[in-house]
Amino acid sequence: MTARVLDGLKIRDQIFAELKGEIARLAALNIKPGLAAVLVGNDPASQLYVKSKIAACELLGLASWLHTPPASISTDELLGLVEKLNSDNNVDGILIQLPLPKQVDTKKVLEAVDPAKDVDGFHPVSLGKLVSGREGLVACTPAGCMEILRRNEIPIEGANAVVLGRSDIVGKPMALLLMHANATVTICHSKTRDLPDVVRRADIVVAAMGRAGYVKADWLKPGSSVIDVGTNKITNAAEAESLLKHFPQRLAKFREKGSVLVGDVHPDAINTAGALTPVPGGVGPMTITMLMSNTVKAARLRRAKHAAKAAL
Ligand code: NAP
Repeated sequence: MTARVLDGLKIRDQIFAELKGEIARLAALNIKPGLAAVLVGNDPASQLYVKSKIAACELLGLASWLHTPPASISTDELLGLVEKLNSDNNVDGILIQLPLPKQVDTKKVLEAVDPAKDVDGFHPVSLGKLVSGREGLVACTPAGCMEILRRNEIPIEGANAVVLGRSDIVGKPMALLLMHANATVTICHSKTRDLPDVVRRADIVVAAMGRAGYVKADWLKPGSSVIDVGTNKITNAAEAESLLKHFPQRLAKFREKGSVLVGDVHPDAINTAGALTPVPGGVGPMTITMLMSNTVKAARLRRAKHAAKAAL
């Protein structure tokens, strides 16, 4: 059996089309949702991520602002910028691109963001709302994983779901979202015993460990649904040859480029799982998609209510 491929790009396009409708409705209330991105220093990977986020804003017709303080910025200076963005009524979402330089207190900066503008969903207030099942801004990657499951009509209620990884930005919020959707959730981490046995009981597996090809095909219950969050760049030829032994086309690409992106789930899982997100092209595009969705939601929650009242 070959797994159904859960295409993240297709879902991104569906959600973008829906967002365009909502953006038009907000425009009728004179509201143009806006995202302010803060990119500290010159890290090339961060520059690339932020560029894609700004490009998505432009594609959808959202306002965007890019702030690029130098890598030498102090915590207090960065807090000053966050405060300015908090009080700017045109800014609906504030994105602090991580990682921040060593001298900056990252927690303090993230906690200074107005929770109403916390489009990354990292603020303790957003996490608290998620825990208690109240409406709020949910971390983009796990929110995107839920969209993939829902829009592919994968049954969640009553399912045994296993989340591999317990980070604040992926594993923990993912487990909470699955629990709120009535799955029975097991959270695994580096100290979990007998991981293959735990995974074998899962109807839904979400892998977010950052370990290339770690989840083997024979760990999976045949027919299970697998969401592979892992994004691991492989440059070692022996590792690529071993992981992609049964995928000659991908191997040929690796030989040409010298690198390949692989998830946390072994590529051979395509023959065991019932449904599977590809890497790349699965969860990856959903993170920016949900950032756009959160920015529009933040504008709706914070501004549209007041605008509608004022229009009455
Ligand atoms: P992280 O903060 O490093 O957390 C990794 C988690 O995996 C930890 O909870 C760790 O356990 C657990 N883990 C590590 N090795 C394990 C093992 N051998 N067995 C069981 N659990 C293990 O990583 P993250 O930020 O959550 O990201 C996870 C992966 O997702 C990375 O590959 C990252 O690049 C990717 N990612 C992709 C997107 C996207 O847009 N596609 C977005 C975010 C992240 P402990 O807690 O015990 O250390």
